[in-house]
Amino acid sequence: MKLLAVILATLLGGFSLLAEEAPSRVLLFFSLNVEADHVLFATQAMQYLAELGDRQGFRVDATSNWLDMNEENLKQYRLVVWLNAIPPAAQQTAFERYMESGGGWLGFHVAAYNDRNSRWTWFRKFIGGGVFGINNWPPLPATLKVDDPASPVTQGVPPSFVAPVNEWYSWRPSPRSDPDIRVLVTLDPVQYPLGIKSLITDRDPDVPVVWTNTRYRMLYFNMGHGEKIFSSSTQNRLFENGVSWLLRRQ
Ligand code: ZN
Repeated sequence: MKLLAVILATLLGGFSLLAEEAPSRVLLFFSLNVEADHVLFATQAMQYLAELGDRQGFRVDATSNWLDMNEENLKQYRLVVWLNAIPPAAQQTAFERYMESGGGWLGFHVAAYNDRNSRWTWFRKFIGGGVFGINNWPPLPATLKVDDPASPVTQGVPPSFVAPVNEWYSWRPSPRSDPDIRVLVTLDPVQYPLGIKSLITDRDPDVPVVWTNTRYRMLYFNMGHGEKIFSSSTQNRLFENGVSWLLRRQ
């Protein structure tokens, strides 16, 4: 009897060890039917995240079919990434349930886009209550300031650095005004006006570009336009830290 108990304990222990060691799975959603610079970004991001998965020990799947965002399928994934699109209304409830029950989300650039006509109120609250304000045009490099040097996401990133060419978005109101939001990185206003044809100005004195909603395991990066996004090892550090933090966090 005692021997049986030992065998059982060993077997069960072995199983739980196996379960712990199974690699986390990450599901990337992308669209090819969007602005060319957003397709370029998504294409590079898929390669970048697959390589990061090899290094950090997670497994990446990618899909352009939003029907894959259903409750059953999402159960397999520790993290869902929206590279350059937002799900249609029919898939939104599945995502809400996934996030409310501890799912993980990483969104880039246009993934947080919403405006006064958007009807997904849960999502607006989720990303900090702001609607798209204005973008700089053409896309430009920008000086960014780290707001939260203590965050695991900003470890090894200097207090200020120049990020590669991107189309930057402002948000109204700034997500910082939501007490659930923790802003990690902001556009430095000393470079205003930013842009030529379309400008970010003092009309938006506070433009967070990386933040998290502390009620969820989520992270948003405003980067995601064009082919230069992964050209900075400093900025890549933010991405690597961010993915690793989302996969680790309870
Ligand atoms: Zn863009």
